[in-house]
Amino acid sequence: MTGKKMRALVFYGPKNFKVEEMPIPQISKDEILVKVKYAGVCGTDNRIYQGTKKINPPRITGHEFVGEIVEVGKNIKEFSVEERVTVYPMISCGMCYACKAGRKNICTNRITIGYEIDGGFAQYIKIPSIAIKSGNVIKVPENLRDEVVAISEPIAAAYHGIKRCEIKEGQTVIIVGAGPIGLFHTQLASLNKPSRVIVIEPIEEKRSLALRMGATDTIDPINENVLERVLEITNREGADVVIIDVGIPKVIEDSLAYVKKGGTFLVFAGCPEGSRINIDPNVIHYREINFTGSSASTPEIHREVLELLSAGKLNVENLISEILPLDKWQQAFEMKNNYIGIKVLIDPWME
Ligand SMILES: [Zn+2]
Ligand SMILES: [Zn+2]
Repeated sequence: MTGKKMRALVFYGPKNFKVEEMPIPQISKDEILVKVKYAGVCGTDNRIYQGTKKINPPRITGHEFVGEIVEVGKNIKEFSVEERVTVYPMISCGMCYACKAGRKNICTNRITIGYEIDGGFAQYIKIPSIAIKSGNVIKVPENLRDEVVAISEPIAAAYHGIKRCEIKEGQTVIIVGAGPIGLFHTQLASLNKPSRVIVIEPIEEKRSLALRMGATDTIDPINENVLERVLEITNREGADVVIIDVGIPKVIEDSLAYVKKGGTFLVFAGCPEGSRINIDPNVIHYREINFTGSSASTPEIHREVLELLSAGKLNVENLISEILPLDKWQQAFEMKNNYIGIKVLIDPWME
């Protein structure tokens, strides 16, 4: 690949990206080169675009991707050319207290492809040796379409959140927000056989999608009294688990009232940096609410998700709403920003 060029989307600052022609990255003997087929656009990519998540420019962003290995360093034994892979983007150090406690998704020294290392909004991506050594490069089951694999990373993040909630059979679950993550949560929560999965979402189309994904009830927060509906559906108790899938502080404040005594409240979505919420701490205290968060995932969970997809246990095909070329980056991020569509993919080879 020496001397050959590729096209990539480069971040220079908020709202300032450029599609550039640049040399295809050269790999060392401990690295691999992947030809990117699709890369997913994430809420975090939008936050980088908006400037509410800071990363250092210049950087090729994009942390959700699938591709084919086109070059393998001579020290690499476990991968070969033409293999289809996805890469779990967050690389943990293995040394810090979080890693040692088995919680590598919150590694204190974590680095992420697409944030600190060049990512997948490009025709080719070099996978650093640390990612290969830490098991972040994952071979893809043959029966999965590229588009589906491209959205497996956010499903892994969603699945980690579901595991954090320890949903038991017969419990009631509320999912606030039916964007891609909310819809993944709806399906993943259903695997634990809850009695009710209630999805709160203002957009009608997304509410009906949620019903197709396994929601038992939906609530329109614009035209309905959400708390009243929640109490009605949950036998006046509130839900065992409430999952927040929208990064809006006010929504977090309002949603605390939906969880029952002893229940779990999970903040999954990231909010703009510096956000504040205003809640009565007594609600957490007297009601013994397990108020918690979920961030990223692990390569192991990502593998598990690929197996679930391969076994047909999740239905995500109709959640891919748009595939755009690199040049349409602005449209891609704006769609995310305005909650248009579900999952948007970038095809770096599309003209
Ligand atoms: Zn993401
Ligand atoms: Zn660590």
